[in-house]
Formats: sequence, structure tokens, C-alpha cells
Amino acid sequence: MPSVKILAIADVTHNVRRYTLERPAGYTFQPGQATDVSLDEDGWRDKKHPFTFTALSDAQNLEFTIKSYFNTGGDGVTERLYGYKQGQSLVVRDVWGTITYKGRGIFIAGGAGSRRSSPSFAISITSGSWRGTPSSSPTAPKPTSFCATNSRVFAASR
Ligand SMILES: Cc1cc2nc3c(=O)[nH]c(=O)nc-3n(C[C@H](O)[C@H](O)[C@H](O)COP(=O)(O)OP(=O)(O)OC[C@H]3O[C@@H](n4cnc5c(N)ncnc54)[C@H](O)[C@@H]3O)c2cc1C
Repeated sequence: MPSVKILAIADVTHNVRRYTLERPAGYTFQPGQATDVSLDEDGWRDKKHPFTFTALSDAQNLEFTIKSYFNTGGDGVTERLYGYKQGQSLVVRDVWGTITYKGRGIFIAGGAGSRRSSPSFAISITSGSWRGTPSSSPTAPKPTSFCATNSRVFAASR
């Protein structure tokens, strides 16, 4: 049950943030997989919520792109996470998930949990020159993919 430090936090939209985290030695995952995450503080470690890895599987750091819900009355993990700063820690666990790459295509996804699809985009364009997730690399060469979050659509074509 590794505790990993937050190295950087970046706004993606008004309620979605990208969290860059330390990567524990030997911690591996496949694109599309998720892990149960909790906040590493008393009273919150047993509240496990699934989030999908949005960095490539060979990246130096872990990354999650998380939408925060602000209507939880203070009980919500993502609401509390929104107040987190660089240097605080999250707990990550075993990885799970069954999305696998089956060839190139166009993906349109929406709704909470849509960040699950970002790693699929990452694989679909890895054979070209573009590496990274649509939401995290606005200046990178554009993929032939669409990435929809709840409140924004990232669209690009080569
Ligand atoms: C396999 C998997 C992977 C996921 N990956 C990501 C990810 O990469 N990034 C990300 O932002 N989220 C992801 N999610 C969704 C994420 O787990 C939830 O948004 C999170 O657990 C909410 O926790 P909370 O304690 O903040 O909110 P809760 O207290 O559980 O809920 C707060 C409010 O938001 C609503 N809500 C919560 N979750 C959802 C939902 N999924 N759909 C619609 N309404 C909801 C609730 O009804 C409630 O009103 C994933 C979910 C699954 C199952």
C-alpha cells in the first residue's frame, strides 16, 4: 500500500486537475488500468476510490486526472483532494482493469470516469510521433483522437 507524494498539480478545467505523483519502484500498470486511491491522512485512508492512470505506462511519474465533486458536504474524497497541495500524499494500491488496445480508432467519451479513455488514446497514437495524453499536453503534436471530459471536449486531427 504505497504512499506517494504529489509532485505537481495543474488545473485542466475549473473542476478537473492533473496530479503528478512519485512512482514507487517496481510499480507497473497497463494503459487503461486503474487503482484504488485514498488520501493519506487520518480518517481518509480507508476511503478507496478508483482512478485511472493517465500517464503512459513507461513514464517516470504516476499521473491521475481527477474531476472534483463539490456537493458532498465535505465527505467526498475528490472534494477534499481539491484542497491538496504539492508535497501531500496519496495512497495507491494494486492495479486493475481490463481495457486493452485493439487497433487505431476514434473514441468519444463522456461522463465521470472518462479519463479512463485517455491512456487508450495514448496508445493509439504511440505508433506516430505524439506521446502523452490529450489533456496533459496542449502544446504537443496533436493526436487523431477526441477526449471528452464532463465539461470540455479536447478534439484534434492530424
Ligand atoms: C474504474 C474507474 C476509474 C475511474 N477513473 C477516474 C478518473 O481517472 N478520473 C476521475 O475524475 N474519476 C474517475 N472515476 C470516478 C471516480 O472514482 C469518482 O468520481 C470518485 O470516486 C468520486 O468520489 P467522491 O468521494 O469525491 O464522490 P462521492 O462522494 O462518491 O460522490 C460525490 C457526488 O458526485 C456524484 N458522483 C460520484 N461519482 C460519480 C460518477 N462516477 N458518475 C456520476 N456521478 C458521480 C455522486 O452522486 C455525488 O453526488 C473512475 C471510476 C471508476 C469506476
